[in-house]
Amino acid sequence: MSYLVFARKWRPQTFSDVIAQEHVTKTLCNAIDTQRIGHAYLFTGPRGVGKTTTARILAKALNCENGPTPDPCMVCDACLRITSGGHLDVLEIDGASNRGIDEIRDLREKARYAAAEGGYKIYIIDEVHMLTREAFNALLKILEEPPDKVIFIFATTEPRKVPATILSRCQRFDFRRIPSSVMGKYISDEAGKEDISIDSDALSLVCRASGGSMRDALSIMDQLVSFSGKNITGDSVSSLLGLVEADLLADICESVLRSKGVRALDLVEDALVRGYSIEELIDALVGFLRHLLLAASGAEKGIKDLSDGELALVQQTVANVSDVHVLNVLRLISGASDQIRLGNSPRISLEAALMTASKMGIAFGFEELPAVTEKVAVVAVKAELVSKTVKPVIIENKQEELKKEEEQAEVSPSPKVKATSKVIEKKEVTSGLDLNEKEKENSVVRQVSGLFDMIPESR
Ligand SMILES: [Zn+2]
Repeated sequence: MSYLVFARKWRPQTFSDVIAQEHVTKTLCNAIDTQRIGHAYLFTGPRGVGKTTTARILAKALNCENGPTPDPCMVCDACLRITSGGHLDVLEIDGASNRGIDEIRDLREKARYAAAEGGYKIYIIDEVHMLTREAFNALLKILEEPPDKVIFIFATTEPRKVPATILSRCQRFDFRRIPSSVMGKYISDEAGKEDISIDSDALSLVCRASGGSMRDALSIMDQLVSFSGKNITGDSVSSLLGLVEADLLADICESVLRSKGVRALDLVEDALVRGYSIEELIDALVGFLRHLLLAASGAEKGIKDLSDGELALVQQTVANVSDVHVLNVLRLISGASDQIRLGNSPRISLEAALMTASKMGIAFGFEELPAVTEKVAVVAVKAELVSKTVKPVIIENKQEELKKEEEQAEVSPSPKVKATSKVIEKKEVTSGLDLNEKEKENSVVRQVSGLFDMIPESR
């Protein structure tokens, strides 16, 4: 038996096999059930998410000897020949290589003849946006007066390049990227049938590298099986795709966040010795920092696709680190990435960014953020309690004082700092806490407020 790549071997053969596109397959099944079959369909969406596959299934559903039926039998002559690509009335045309007016005129001539096998004549035109303007005009003429029992299925990744006159004559279906969780389950199920074992780290890396395209994911799987046999691990995926290991990324990020710049530079040196390029390293760092930012800011959705191991690593790295701090570091590193694209020295750009990022904590007067964030939280809670318990008369007195101060103070760091400081001053009136502690808290609040002021988006 000849070797079949996974993308062909595991290709869905019925509407119910198509994953993550239920909004499309359900509508098509209903249309077939109620015999409301259109003349032209436009399937749009990213590459490798099932557009052409669905077009072939639709062709089968229409031309099956028991059809039209949403559940083609898969065993009749028509079904078998459509599956193998040998059906006379189901014609697949690549829009990129048949883009001229002559090809479309030829198509128009042939479309006039009835289907050789008595069913529907179905033209599947892939990458239809590649057609020339003249070719689109010729196509439009057919769509304006479509011959009986001729159906066009256009597939495109760029619907914006398809003329509005064509679009308005098509039933449009937008295919979506395949979510990692759905893709991961599909791959592990199919791999299981072939006795291929793939661990969760590997699965998560493959799904992420595919960018939501099943075809890309399955191509990676083909390479992985050639590369490491039937036992696929996260390490084999990292080696094959040249991915920087998550452990190393976590180490670098942790060093930067905890103000250990020198250690971060040492780790970069190690990574380069191991053969990663600066560009690979920066891209991987930006990706990892994004996960850290999502974790630090509690945006669970964005990190749900990580494997358990990676998730634990991300959470451990940002433990007690504020989202603002991560955001600043992310900005610096992605700024370095822009610098490199502008042609500046890659290594210096990365090292400078890492050092600047690691100094950031120190610049604001703290090396370990946890203590600070806790303090701020305590101050906020105390202030809240005080504002509820202070007797009105005291507040009034204090407010007069504050008003005077406000008039006197011409230059102020920022309204936010002033406001926060005032809350704490109010608290002093009644709480009777140690003054030194107050001053420390005030200073922390000023630093943190200053930090927020530096980052407009964080508000
Ligand atoms: Zn059939």
